[in-house]
Amino acid sequence: MKLHHDLHSHSTASDGTLTPEELVEEALDGGVDVLALTDHDTTAGIGAAARAADGQDIRLIPGVEISVSWNAYTIHVLGLNIDIRDERLQRGLQGLREFREWRAQEIARRLEKAGIQGALTGARAHARGSIVGRTHFARFLVEQGYARSLREVFKRYLVKKRPGYVPGEWATLEQAVTWIRGAGGLAVIAHPARYRLSATRLRALLEEFKSCGGLGLEVVSGSHSRDDITAMSSVARRLELLASCGSDYHGPENPWVRLGRLANVPDGCRPVWESTQWRAASAR
Ligand code: AMP
Ligand code: MN
Ligand code: MN
Ligand code: MN
Repeated sequence: MKLHHDLHSHSTASDGTLTPEELVEEALDGGVDVLALTDHDTTAGIGAAARAADGQDIRLIPGVEISVSWNAYTIHVLGLNIDIRDERLQRGLQGLREFREWRAQEIARRLEKAGIQGALTGARAHARGSIVGRTHFARFLVEQGYARSLREVFKRYLVKKRPGYVPGEWATLEQAVTWIRGAGGLAVIAHPARYRLSATRLRALLEEFKSCGGLGLEVVSGSHSRDDITAMSSVARRLELLASCGSDYHGPENPWVRLGRLANVPDGCRPVWESTQWRAASAR
């Protein structure tokens, strides 16, 4: 039987709106057989998700989505099937979260200069005790009527050249891949079509990623169009990267696809879960 894999999702441990338990429930409802929880720069939700999946018809893959600065770009690298007890990985993620905390204060300071009061308190209320990310600011700003949608609020306030923008100072590509591999996991470049890289730049990114030991490309993503999927599947084949597939689910009210509604990995690509590395990591 063909299993339905969704290897990219978020919970309230980062910027998702469902708790890890609710997320597992939703994935079961959507017919997902194998779900990876990949919160931004944290594995805090994995324990609860694994307990919720225990004894149910679903397998929970421990994962993380690591923020990386590569040249002028922020790139997201997924670590799948990681051992969350790995100390070097956890120290690395801790450093990224410390940057996130500083950045949250800085974003609020800049928004205040632009005339928006109380953004840090507002964003913290949405984060409910987790680290504050841009999505939490976006939810606060929409709630306050600064824009109608998350997409619009990002465009007006939270991206380059906008009042609440603070440049990222994330991990290097090599650090992210090294942490993931050190924790026994597989590194995958998330939603490659989202970065709007030229073919040459994308190739440079992927060559460097491979030389660090990166293995996979998220060919199928909730944020990819059909054309993106076709383009990325040929990139994966040409560069001999394994193909991954994930919704990037953030909760029922977000624009990405529903859990369990993803396209299949195109023929001719090798799915990550059919690799020897995946089997070795899962057998741990
Ligand atoms: P951060 O890692 O805190 O800088 O925030 C990045 C997150 O913001 C992504 O993982 C998405 O969840 C969200 N995001 C980024 N751009 C947009 C957008 N245009 N519309 C909605 N959400 C976005
Ligand atoms: Mn997110
Ligand atoms: Mn991402
Ligand atoms: Mn994501």
